[in-house]
Amino acid sequence: MSTPDPVSALSVWLALESPTHHAPGVNGMMDLVAAEVEGLPIAVERIPGRDGLGDSLILRAGLATGAPGVAVMSHLDTVHPVGTSARDLPVRVEGDRLYGPGVYDMKGGAYLALQAFKQVALAGTAKRPLVFLFTPDEEIGSPTTRGLIEEIGRKSAAVLITEPAREGGKIVTARKGVGRFEVKLEGRPAHSGARHADGRSAIREAAHQILAIEGLTDYARGLTTTVALMGGGTAANVIPQHAWFSVDLRVATAADGAVLESQILGLAPKDPDVRISVTGGMNRPPYEKSPEGAALFETAKRIAAGIGFELQDCPMTGGGSDGNFTAALGVPTLDGLGIDGEGAHTLSEHALISSIAPRQALIKGLLETV
Ligand SMILES: [Zn+2]
Repeated sequence: MSTPDPVSALSVWLALESPTHHAPGVNGMMDLVAAEVEGLPIAVERIPGRDGLGDSLILRAGLATGAPGVAVMSHLDTVHPVGTSARDLPVRVEGDRLYGPGVYDMKGGAYLALQAFKQVALAGTAKRPLVFLFTPDEEIGSPTTRGLIEEIGRKSAAVLITEPAREGGKIVTARKGVGRFEVKLEGRPAHSGARHADGRSAIREAAHQILAIEGLTDYARGLTTTVALMGGGTAANVIPQHAWFSVDLRVATAADGAVLESQILGLAPKDPDVRISVTGGMNRPPYEKSPEGAALFETAKRIAAGIGFELQDCPMTGGGSDGNFTAALGVPTLDGLGIDGEGAHTLSEHALISSIAPRQALIKGLLETV
């Protein structure tokens, strides 16, 4: 198969900006993927987007035996707003580095995995059904695609996620679970000079609650809580009636997820005259390393050794991905199989061009071996 130069082909993907909430850009990415597989022995199914978000795309190849397949999953949305490439992060090559919005997280990984998928489909070397799912909304927690991810996951013997590689090419075999909450407090307003004693400050109550929630952090247990957004009040001389804040929760185990979720949802006010309401919950369950996941990692290590590099995994990472959904179903999942580089979600985001060929070969090997 003649493949175009990967850097110029990937640069076309980067030039098409696709922040999650810009459906035309995300759908343009789905068009580029569909165009790539035209005329190949690959079936394409497009699922229209919902809630103003972009479409999903499913590619199928390999054996149509109905046996559990191998699934690759990539998201084509990015965090960078439209205009980022014109202003702050132009698509460019500097030595081994390819810069551009989303090149590392994760258009580079999606691109190289697609090339591997095409190679295996053309060569007819798959032992199982192969599925490739492209999604439009991972960066906001996959609200419209979780069902699809889990449905494909349940039918799979292994799931390969093309999120970025870590620190010199390490892959991801465990991720913390993520919870998100919004806490709203309502007290009683009063003039801060004339009627101070009548007021019940929602902000003072929020301060107590925030310290208590932040105090739940336990690094040894892999548990963190973060209040990163807050607000409240109406004027400098009014006892505030309203206040609100967000909670970001990370847990290493499903058990901790359940305990912390009920603890945060059940927050009780210190001041009985202030009402607290909490919404939210666990968004992504923890992705814990299972024996089956460890065996899949050993297979990947053997394939990498054959290609000529030593594959390592990194310690449990705090960041969630769609791999959390499939791993929590008990499906062996490898993540961080995407491109190597640095600077995800920043204006210095770049990928290492030299990582494309070996990572593509690793995914090809997994698609032919599992
Ligand atoms: Zn990502």
